[in-house]
Amino acid sequence: MIQTDILIIGAGPCGLFTVFEAGLLKLRCHLIDALPQAGGQCSEIYPKKPIYDIPAYPSILAGDLVDKLMEQAAPFEPGFTLGERAEEIEKDEEGQFILTTNRGTKHRAPIIAIAGGLGCFEPRKPPVDGLANFEDHGVEYIIKDPEFYRDKKVIISGGGDSALDWAIFLAEGVAKEVTLVHRRTEFRGHLDSVQKVMDHAAAGRIRLMTNAEVVEVHGDTDLQSVVVKTKEDGMHTLATDHWVPLFGLSPKLGPIADWNLNITKNAVEVDTFDYSTNVPGIYAIGDINTYPGKLKLILCGFHEATLMVQSAFKRIYPDKNLVLKYTTVNGVNAF
Ligand SMILES: Cc1cc2nc3c(=O)[nH]c(=O)nc-3n(C[C@H](O)[C@H](O)[C@H](O)COP(=O)(O)OP(=O)(O)OC[C@H]3O[C@@H](n4cnc5c(N)ncnc54)[C@H](O)[C@@H]3O)c2cc1C
Repeated sequence: MIQTDILIIGAGPCGLFTVFEAGLLKLRCHLIDALPQAGGQCSEIYPKKPIYDIPAYPSILAGDLVDKLMEQAAPFEPGFTLGERAEEIEKDEEGQFILTTNRGTKHRAPIIAIAGGLGCFEPRKPPVDGLANFEDHGVEYIIKDPEFYRDKKVIISGGGDSALDWAIFLAEGVAKEVTLVHRRTEFRGHLDSVQKVMDHAAAGRIRLMTNAEVVEVHGDTDLQSVVVKTKEDGMHTLATDHWVPLFGLSPKLGPIADWNLNITKNAVEVDTFDYSTNVPGIYAIGDINTYPGKLKLILCGFHEATLMVQSAFKRIYPDKNLVLKYTTVNGVNAF
């Protein structure tokens, strides 16, 4: 059981900034995210795009913003449960929330801050018969830890940056054999990544199959082979340990929709006084919440996080006085 003061669902920019603001009040935070890395939309959708409306940064790449937020949060030693979806909430006899993830990890906290953005990013799954039987038995939709594929035969499907980047990474001394299967001949990823894949293919480190798609999966309990259909020369059966279809992720509100929260148009209703929801002890900040005048902007989520932790502090310590202090006076550890 992981115990913390504020359990944050979603490690996007708003969740990460909450760690800093809570840390100033000496509140500990633990973040849960369904994705294997922190950063939410900034890391998953547009890490290399510049953002122009972060105060004091005329321009900053979304990925760099996440690095800075991680650095700013680091002194407060947040905990992370990554690659797991927050699934069920209940209350124990002491009034604390017990949150269980889809992988069974249990967390306990007096306060829950939902910073779930657009919701969970669900993988787009290819329409292949029997696919579900091999999920976590050779079929994965996200690469969490490349070491998992060490000395294994891996087939990756997709034509975007993640498919290209992982094919390159695994081919450079990690996997035993890497095959990249793509429906078209053109790739959507960065030109330099496409060139690298071509170079690896020419050197025999990646087997490249274009105008091709995986149409069948076979095995007993674990995946043993897939059938690839190509436009030019029909069906090929390939023996493999893993098939990783990387066709992108689409956001869904997911389990949060079942937590008895007031929801309007896929967003959680909050009171703008402190961003509390209708369930005492549960707050919602960032893209996931809604209120009159709501703007889905990172800087608005930062403001919401700042006010929210003040209210959370008062809930946890109703008898303590909270006086606003400036970080410029004594640094971040003197609060
Ligand atoms: C292309 C693009 C460009 C943008 N440009 C700008 C810009 O210039 N300026 C700006 O201010 N904003 C911009 N935005 C919007 C900005 O990215 C969002 O406002 C911001 O990411 C919201 O942050 P968040 O922390 O609320 O949520 P997100 O960044 O969406 O993070 C939420 C996290 O919660 C996780 N999650 C959800 N449900 C669960 C669950 N049940 N269990 C576990 N984890 C869960 C998700 O996996 C996700 O990682 C842009 C967005 C896009 C897509």
